[in-house]
Amino acid sequence: MTEHAVVIAGGGPTGLMLAGELALAGVDVAIVERRKSQDLPGSRAGGLHSRTIEILDQRGIADRFLAEGQVVSVGQFAGVALDISDFPTRHPYSLGLWQNHIERILADWVGELPVSFYRGREVTGFEQDDTGVDVELSGGESLRAQYLAGCDGGRSLVRKAAGIEFPGWDPTTSAMIAEVEMAEEPEFGIRHDARGMHALGREEYEIRDGEVVYADSGPVRVMLTEEHVGTSEPTLSDLSDALIAVYGTDYGVHSPTWISRFTDMTRQAATYRDGRVLLAGDAAHVHSPDGAQGLQYGVQDAVNLGWKLAGVVNGTAPETLLDTYHAERHPVGARLLRTTMAHVALRRPDERTDALRETIAEVLMTDESRRNFTAMMFGLDIHYDLGEGHPLLGRRMPDLDLVTPDGPVRVYTLLHDARPLLLNLGEPGRFDVGPWADRVRVIDAEYSGTWELPAIGEVTAPAAVLIRPDGHVAWVGAIAGPQLTDALTNWFGAPAAAAC
Ligand SMILES: Cc1cc2nc3c(=O)[nH]c(=O)nc-3n(C[C@H](O)[C@H](O)[C@H](O)COP(=O)(O)OP(=O)(O)OC[C@H]3O[C@@H](n4cnc5c(N)ncnc54)[C@H](O)[C@@H]3O)c2cc1C
Repeated sequence: MTEHAVVIAGGGPTGLMLAGELALAGVDVAIVERRKSQDLPGSRAGGLHSRTIEILDQRGIADRFLAEGQVVSVGQFAGVALDISDFPTRHPYSLGLWQNHIERILADWVGELPVSFYRGREVTGFEQDDTGVDVELSGGESLRAQYLAGCDGGRSLVRKAAGIEFPGWDPTTSAMIAEVEMAEEPEFGIRHDARGMHALGREEYEIRDGEVVYADSGPVRVMLTEEHVGTSEPTLSDLSDALIAVYGTDYGVHSPTWISRFTDMTRQAATYRDGRVLLAGDAAHVHSPDGAQGLQYGVQDAVNLGWKLAGVVNGTAPETLLDTYHAERHPVGARLLRTTMAHVALRRPDERTDALRETIAEVLMTDESRRNFTAMMFGLDIHYDLGEGHPLLGRRMPDLDLVTPDGPVRVYTLLHDARPLLLNLGEPGRFDVGPWADRVRVIDAEYSGTWELPAIGEVTAPAAVLIRPDGHVAWVGAIAGPQLTDALTNWFGAPAAAAC
C-alpha cells in the first residue's frame, strides 16, 4: 500500500493551499482529486479579499494573482459600500479574479513543490486506527496516511464517513447561476424586483475608476433569484423561463458552459477534527455566497492547519496542537455563517427589509462601524484568543518594512518558507532560542514607523514578537523568559534540550 504522511481529499482552493503549506514544511503529502485536471466548470468565486492576498504574499505568490486580476478598493455589506483604501495593509483592496484562474495559479504553485497528485480518483471511504488512516480510492487502490484532511467540499464524503454532524439551517432562497451565450445584447448590471436580486454581466471585465466595464463580447454570467427554493439541477429551458420571468426575454440564450444553482443553506461541522481526520474549507462550513467569503475562509483554514499538522507529523509538536485548529477556526467559521445569514436576510425584497437595510446603512456611515465591518468583510480582523496582552497577540502581523543587518526586508518576505519567526526589534542579539533554533528563526531588525492594526488603530510598538507560520502573533514581549519559553513550547513543541 502506498504511504504518505498526509492525504488530502479534494484539490480545490483549500486542498491546494493545505498541500502547499505541508510541502513547504517538508511533509510527504498527496492530493486525491476527483477532477482529471484543475479545469473548473463554472467560475464560482469572483476573487480574493485583502487578507487572502496577504496570506499569499506571506508565501511569495501574491504577485502571480495580482498580475491577472482587477483590483477594487470597495467591498459591500448588504448593499452598503465599504471603502478599504485607507486601511493599514499593503493590499487595501479585493482582487477580481474568477475561481478557475485562482485554482490554476494555486495548482501551478503546488506543482513546483513536492506534492503527489492522484487525479481523476475519488476518496470512497476510510478507516482510522491508532497509528494512521487507510484511505480507499475509486478503482480499488488504497493509501495509508498518518492523517487525512477532508477538503472535499460542501458534500464532503470525509465529513459524512467520519460521522461528523453538520448542524445548521436549510435553504430559504436559491438562485440559478449560469455561463451562457446570448444572441442579443442583454441589460447588464443588477436588477431588483419582487423575487429579489438578479445580475447579468460578461465574464470578461475591467475595473476602470472603480466601475465595472464589461467586455464587448464573450460569455455572459447570469444570476437569477428564484421564486421558490430550487432543488433539482436546472436546465437551459429552466434558465430561459427564469430570464423571461425577470427580463421579459431570454435574450436568445444558448450554448451554456455551466448551469447550476446555489442556496443559502448554512451549516458548520460540529468538530473540525475527529482523531486523525481533519476538515477544512467548504467541507467544514457552507453558506450563501453573499459577501464572497467561502474561498477566503477555506484558504485561511488551510494556512491555520498546515503548519500545525506539519509540526505533529514531523514529530516536533504534540498531537494536541491539532485541537487548536478547531479551537481557533470553528468560532471564526461560526461568525462567518452569522454574517452571511445576515447578508441574505438584508437582501429580502420587502419594504420592512428595505427599512432595515437603510437603517444598517446609516449605522455603517459612522467611521468606527465602517472600519469594523470593512475589517471583517476583508478578513483583516481575525483574532485568535491567545489570552490577555498586547493587541497584536493572536492577530495578524502587519507587513512592515524592516531594516536588518542583511538589508531592508518586508516581514512577509521572512515568512515565505512558512517557518516561525522571532522578530527582535530591540537591542540586537538579545534572543537566543537555543533548543528551538532548528524550528524558529531569530531576526534582529529595526522598524521606525507606526504600528497600526485594521479596525483597532495605532498600538504601542512591541520590542519583540513571535510570529507563527500563518502570520499570527503568538507572543509579544521584551525579554526572553518563561512566557516566551511557554509560547515556543506550546506552538512549536518541547525543546530537545534546555529552555532559553
Ligand atoms: C455561485 C458561487 C459563487 C461563489 N462566490 C464566491 C466568492 O465570490 N468568493 C468566495 O470566497 N467564495 C465564493 N464561493 C464559494 C467558493 O466557491 C467555495 O467556498 C470554495 O470553492 C471552497 O473551496 P474548497 O476547496 O473548500 O471546496 P471545493 O472548491 O468544493 O473543492 C473541493 C474539491 O474536492 C473534490 N472532491 C469532492 N469529493 C471528492 C472525493 N470524494 N474525492 C476526491 N475529490 C473530491 C472536488 O472535485 C473539488 O475539486 C462561491 C460559490 C458559489 C457556488
